[in-house]
Amino acid sequence: MSAPKKTAAKKPAAPRKTRARKPRPKWDVSDIESWGPERHEPGATIPEAGNSVYNETGGWRTFVPELDPEKCDGCMLCYFYCPDASIIVEDGKAVAVDLEHCKGCGICAHECPAGAIVMRLEEKE
Ligand code: SF4
Ligand code: SF4
Repeated sequence: MSAPKKTAAKKPAAPRKTRARKPRPKWDVSDIESWGPERHEPGATIPEAGNSVYNETGGWRTFVPELDPEKCDGCMLCYFYCPDASIIVEDGKAVAVDLEHCKGCGICAHECPAGAIVMRLEEKE
């Protein structure tokens, strides 16, 4: 697994703790045509809390936040509003974004009163 990509952070962020990947369950859907209200596979449930670490949702992104830690005043609004817990904080300031999980919703940039985060169209490789 490659190391997490970070936005234009001038200060390197501390490495995030990662857990070993578990094999994903495979559901037998060969007879899905016969399914009805009596039968539901648990595909839409969350059997284990905290499993978002296994799903790198950053690939869904169209726009990417660019964070300038020099402009950050440490209000933490981006941290509290980010639905993906992707704002990386060090010493009371936002310093980077976890791009393995950030979906590019733009909430952080919208909420930031200091103009420290701007959204850019992401160039995909
Ligand atoms: S763009 Fe959305 S998901 Fe990404 S860091 Fe900002 S608030 Fe979080
Ligand atoms: S919302 Fe802006 S000023 Fe507040 S912590 Fe986040 S980046 Fe810093």
